[in-house]
Amino acid sequence: MPSITVLSGGMGGAKFLQGLLHGLRSGQLPYPADTRITVIANTADDLWIHGLKVSPDLDTVMYTLGDGIDPGRGWGRRNETWSVKEELATYGVEPTWFGLGDRDIATHLVRTQMLEAGYPLSAVTEALCRRWLAPVFEDTVRLLPMTDDRVETHVAIPDAESPSGKRVVHFQEYWVRLRAEVPAEQVVFVGLEASTPAPGVVEALTDTDLVVLPPSNPVVSVGTILGVPGVREALLDTEAPVVGLSPIVGDAHVRGMAEQMLTSIGVEVSAAGVALHYGHRAKGGVLDGWLVDERDAHHLSRIQESGIKTAAVPLMMTDHDTTAAMAAAAIDLAT
Ligand code: GDP
Ligand code: CA
Repeated sequence: MPSITVLSGGMGGAKFLQGLLHGLRSGQLPYPADTRITVIANTADDLWIHGLKVSPDLDTVMYTLGDGIDPGRGWGRRNETWSVKEELATYGVEPTWFGLGDRDIATHLVRTQMLEAGYPLSAVTEALCRRWLAPVFEDTVRLLPMTDDRVETHVAIPDAESPSGKRVVHFQEYWVRLRAEVPAEQVVFVGLEASTPAPGVVEALTDTDLVVLPPSNPVVSVGTILGVPGVREALLDTEAPVVGLSPIVGDAHVRGMAEQMLTSIGVEVSAAGVALHYGHRAKGGVLDGWLVDERDAHHLSRIQESGIKTAAVPLMMTDHDTTAAMAAAAIDLAT
């Protein structure tokens, strides 16, 4: 059976995967309906909060594909209630800025208990997916954490009260509490260099027909996955074409904080900037092909000059059919 491997963050990756799976099942793509999909998800957003291990990107992918996501928020559970959060606040328990819904907490309790019993995150994720993915996709869709090791993205922000003039916060605090409204002076990936790929990750990159980089954050989602030692090497070695879709449209992120993250690492905020940052596979980069949005067609020549195959198509994930068409264009570019 053919297989496709996707490197995913949270919302951008999950939305793309929904469109890809819709396209496969409705026959809009030149791959069979039961094509094996392996998702390698970012875990550097993970945090411990109230004694619970929370994996935001794994859960966003799992809930979205398993139809348990709150469609309005794009994260957390549908029909959520917030009694535990309210009760914790009345005790004055900090932090209060990270919202854990009651239904969602059950997932984190299962994850935390299994981790504390000695299971690696990959085994925990497999167990959670038995509820969310298996009933919908049987064994055709697999979700793997990028690593079983603890990796955390931290962000240095300005702080006039600190002797160094800055302070370091967890990525979730930067995004959720500070809403990415202060400049990110530096991003630091704690534990990344010492991490190893989770079981199945390298095989999913080398033993597959196509690798897709969906429109996920190039720094704190795809960037962290590529930073797990062995992942970049597997992408260089694989015989499968590697094709990406730009998360930057019209020189801006569609939503999220990709602009702040790219700026903090000195990468131009444009579809071309991200393509050149990823680089052409023949020159030690990770891409064979790169799709940009129609309104970024003026960037095509710069991308082509670097050796990366490219094309401009609509890249806004407005509905499943439009997203499936993006997946079709990515497959087309790769073949
Ligand atoms: P997160 O972990 O929830 O931040 O999700 P991802 O890292 O998977 O994706 C977030 C990024 O997806 C955003 O920063 C945007 O740049 C990008 N994005 C979101 N919606 C769209 C869309 O409709 N089209 C494109 N091209 N990019 C999008
Ligand atoms: Ca994320």
